[in-house]
Amino acid sequence: MFSRQTPTNAAGGAKSIAVTTEKLIASVLAANANERTLCGIGVASAGAIDVERGTVFAATKNLPGWTGFPLRAYFAEKFRLPVFVENDGHAAALAELYFGEGRSFNDFVVITLGTGLGGGIILDRLLLRGVHGFGGGIGHHTINFESGPECNCGRRGCLESYVSSNALVRDYCATTGIGSVTAEEIARRAALGDAAANEAIDRMAEALGQGLANVWSFVDPEVIILTGGVTGAFSGFQDKLMAVLNESLPFSALRKPRVLLSTTNMFAGVQGAAAAVFQGQHV
Ligand SMILES: [Zn+2]
Repeated sequence: MFSRQTPTNAAGGAKSIAVTTEKLIASVLAANANERTLCGIGVASAGAIDVERGTVFAATKNLPGWTGFPLRAYFAEKFRLPVFVENDGHAAALAELYFGEGRSFNDFVVITLGTGLGGGIILDRLLLRGVHGFGGGIGHHTINFESGPECNCGRRGCLESYVSSNALVRDYCATTGIGSVTAEEIARRAALGDAAANEAIDRMAEALGQGLANVWSFVDPEVIILTGGVTGAFSGFQDKLMAVLNESLPFSALRKPRVLLSTTNMFAGVQGAAAAVFQGQHV
């Protein structure tokens, strides 16, 4: 399995994302030209993915023009290899299933905490994709439909609008008046004792605790596994998160909800895309 990183440049539209990705794949192939026993290319993408057709069924306005994009056909034509496409949250769940903490469990939920909030539900060690690819779309269940922040999906108060690096930055900037800061910087300031940073992280942890209690209520998994960049700040919000989860979840004393941190970290999407290839080979 090979990997390399580059920014997406989503604002440039679908063609720009595809060309950027194509160049990236070409560079990975060129750098590993002597190890060519490739069985396929795995692509993990945001948006609801039609796995059968290998197309993007629907994507939010974060990825302009991405809805309908024929991912499999595009890359299969360029590279003459079998191409397998998954939603990025689903890919993260597959990564846990085959390479991560999920190897030890049959029923678990993976939640990706990054610029947005995605997820994947594994039941009896099978991924729940749903009919249109929206299965496990935990980021867009609302925890405040009346007065929550407007979400990029068009609803109000989705979990993603409270729990993501974008949400943390927006909250911190709104309360402090600071114009621009990264989520990593907020976490750093919190560790140094910045009260506003700690309060913003606390609010995020509280929303996440409520969201996880909802997820636990309708899935009743063995564990929830958190992955993605925001988990870098986990030690700063773990206690608050677990307190809210235990308070909010019915019968929590009996169920003893467990939340684990992923060990696949930044490579969840890549490993999950690779897992999609391995899984596809055996269908
Ligand atoms: Zn939403």
